[in-house]
Amino acid sequence: MRYEAVIGLEVHAQLLTRTKAFCGCSTAYGAPPNTQVCPVCLGLPGALPVLNGEAVRLAVRTALALSCGIRPASRFARKNYFYPDLPKGYQISQFDEPFSDRGELEIEVGGVKKTVGITRVHMEEDAGKSHHSAPHSVVDLNRSGVPLVEIVGEPDLRSGAEAAEYLRTLREILVFIGVNDGNLEEGSFRCDANVSIRPVGETRLGTRVELKNINSFRFVEKAIAHEIVRQAEVLDAGGRIVQETRGWDEDTGTTFSMRSKEEAQDYRYFPDPDLPPLRLDDAFVAEVRGLMPELPEAKRRRFTGEMGLTPYAAQVLTVHPGVAAFFEEAAKRHAGAGHGPAGATSNATKVANFIQSEILGDVQTHGLDAKIPVSADQVAALLGLVDGGTISGKQAKEVYAAIAGTAEAPAAVVARLGMQQVSDAGAIESLCKRLIEQHPKQADQLRAGKVSLTGFFVGLAMKETKGSANPQLVNEALKKLLGPG
Ligand SMILES: [Zn+2]
Repeated sequence: MRYEAVIGLEVHAQLLTRTKAFCGCSTAYGAPPNTQVCPVCLGLPGALPVLNGEAVRLAVRTALALSCGIRPASRFARKNYFYPDLPKGYQISQFDEPFSDRGELEIEVGGVKKTVGITRVHMEEDAGKSHHSAPHSVVDLNRSGVPLVEIVGEPDLRSGAEAAEYLRTLREILVFIGVNDGNLEEGSFRCDANVSIRPVGETRLGTRVELKNINSFRFVEKAIAHEIVRQAEVLDAGGRIVQETRGWDEDTGTTFSMRSKEEAQDYRYFPDPDLPPLRLDDAFVAEVRGLMPELPEAKRRRFTGEMGLTPYAAQVLTVHPGVAAFFEEAAKRHAGAGHGPAGATSNATKVANFIQSEILGDVQTHGLDAKIPVSADQVAALLGLVDGGTISGKQAKEVYAAIAGTAEAPAAVVARLGMQQVSDAGAIESLCKRLIEQHPKQADQLRAGKVSLTGFFVGLAMKETKGSANPQLVNEALKKLLGPG
């Protein structure tokens, strides 16, 4: 039988606040265990939660970026369950009254665009973290109470590739609007996938399996693809799909059962009596909307449209918000210095090319931070030296290597290394004269019209001057010395 897969994703993303959702404890990652805790996030009796306003702003920004509607009144609920990393015995979440709903996200897979529905975005708090290392299990509660948004997607996805692209697109948006650091390894961006299959043409949903704890987009894609095949084999053999939670084993390339979900867990949600309803008035929503950073897709459109970059360059330079900002700053400074005869478009392309070919390989990113070994000023000044004919493009690479990791001005390096491009027409002409005398046969052929030999002499001139001869002047000298006649 032919089947169609139905996939819906739930993403938990930590909001980049300095303090937790309902107390003043730090959210910094990597502190010694249980050092960032207080009576509120430890769930001690009598401690009262106070909602973090910055978390609300970031959550609303997330929902708006996904075109969700914002509900003027919403409510926090207690989701009751027992687990060692949840000292209160309940998680503060939003249940039947989330602060936003009905959004969408556009993805593109294999050149085909697709709009995926967003059911809702709601706020909740994170739990602590259990560490299992036999014979003991220990709990770190530093993460307990860190603010999250849960982004619930509609079951609109039909393949592992679509699911992976949805996650990449969503992660990119969250990182570019500064609400999440997108760090899958540290667990600040986590995804669960609900996967079911049904015969093609069937409208009812099949029994779904939840894939959990998969910490890379590539693994999500592979796990879903495997799960679709596994479920089809079960049904074809006359079996039935068991509702369960499964994990992904990268070594065997298969999913495995973690726990059965046959009996739906009853979380006994009820409104949290310690927290008043959350009211978001129009003025607040308008303010958050007004401060929305540029979305990555809009940035790429501007890079290709206004700035004249190729779609590929625009894609590469938006690999990280820090890189995109660096490119824009360097292009602005380079254009501002008024180098080159051409307009701003060509300047932006020069800067884009240099960043892609020389700098990008040296950039280190971690979360929202990007470590770039030179400043935008240095890049603009360096390319200015090329535009002005002081150094060649080849020498620019050497100057970059010298200034990388330092605050040195490119001009200072050029002076220190004595690598000024030879732009003295007289000196170049006498060099060319000498080269012609040394290679009379090639000179005669060039004189006779074999123009491809121009490259031969330019190459020799570059070798003689260690790449510092101005190639345009070499060409002109050759034309003058060997020109027609
Ligand atoms: Zn606390």
